[in-house]
Amino acid sequence: MKIGVPHELTAFEWVRQCMACLQSAMPGLEWVSHPERSAAHAPSLSEGDACHPYKKTIRTALALAPDVDALFIPRLVALDGHLMCPNFRALPDLVRLNLDHALGAKRPKIIDTVVEIATHEDTRAALERIAVGIGIEFDQEKLGNASAQHASHPSPQQVHRISHIPEERGRIALIGHPYILADPALNLDVPRRLRDHGYEPVTAEHIPFAELDRLASSRDYYAKTLYWRGARECLGAFLHFMKDPRIDGVIYLISFNCGVDALMRVELASLHKTLQKSSGRRLPFMTLVGDENIQHEHVATRLEAFLDIVEAQS
Ligand code: SF4
Repeated sequence: MKIGVPHELTAFEWVRQCMACLQSAMPGLEWVSHPERSAAHAPSLSEGDACHPYKKTIRTALALAPDVDALFIPRLVALDGHLMCPNFRALPDLVRLNLDHALGAKRPKIIDTVVEIATHEDTRAALERIAVGIGIEFDQEKLGNASAQHASHPSPQQVHRISHIPEERGRIALIGHPYILADPALNLDVPRRLRDHGYEPVTAEHIPFAELDRLASSRDYYAKTLYWRGARECLGAFLHFMKDPRIDGVIYLISFNCGVDALMRVELASLHKTLQKSSGRRLPFMTLVGDENIQHEHVATRLEAFLDIVEAQS
C-alpha cells in the first residue's frame, strides 16, 4: 500500500519516527513523500493569505494524491506538550476540500489522526490509531517495540554536527521552523548560498527539543510564556547559538504572513541587543523574510551585506 506524506511534514522528527515505526509493523507499507508531478502547479483552493510553507504543503499533498492509495496528513495539535501552529489543525480539512473538488470520489483516503503528544504513551496510542486508520494488518507487538526503541534512541539527525565542520570554515547558524530549514524553496536557498560564500550553515536539528525548551524557559515569565512549540524551538536555538563561540553569525529565516515569526522577530532582535551588551561580544544577526514571490537578487544582496559584517568582525 502506497501512502503519501508531504515532505514538508517529514521535517518534524516525530513524523519521521512515526513513519519508521509504522513501517516496521506493516511490511507492505510504502511511503511516498515527493510527488512525481509538479507540486508548484497543483491547483489549490482556499489559500487566502496563508504563509508559503502552508500553501506549499497543501500543493505537495495534492500533487501526491493521484499516485498513492492514501494520504497521511496528521492533525498536529501538540508535540512535546506544546501547541503547534493552528494551521496544522486545519491542514487535513484543506487538503480534503481541494481533493474533493479536483478528484471527487476518486480521491485517496486521508488519514487525519489527531496528534496531541506530551508523553511516550501518547505517541504509542497515536501510532495505534494511525495504524487502524491505514486499515491494513499490523503487528501490534512490533509497533510497541519500535515506538519504545525510538523513544530511547531518537532517529539520526540529518545535519552535520558543528564539531564535524573543519576549523577554517566560517559557521553561520540558521534558525527557523524545521520545514523552512529543510526546504530550499522555503529557506531562499540560503544554506547553498552560504556554502558558495565559503561558510557552513549550522542548525539546531541535532539538539533535542527538551534542551531548546529548557533554554527558552529562561525567558518565560508570567505575561511572556511562549506556548507555541515552534516559537520555543527558535528561541532555544537562538540562545544556544548566541553563546557558542564557534558561530560567526545568526540568520533567522521566517515566512511572510506568519504570526509566530512576526512575534519572534521582534523578540529576538531585542534579545540580541541585550545579549550583545551583557556579553560584550558582537555577533551579527539578521532576519530574512521568505515568500513565494521573493526577489532572489534581493536575498543575494542582503546575504552579501551580512557576510561583509561577519568578516569585519572576525
Ligand atoms: S508557524 Fe508560521 S510558517 Fe509555520 S505554518 Fe504556522 S503560520 Fe505558517
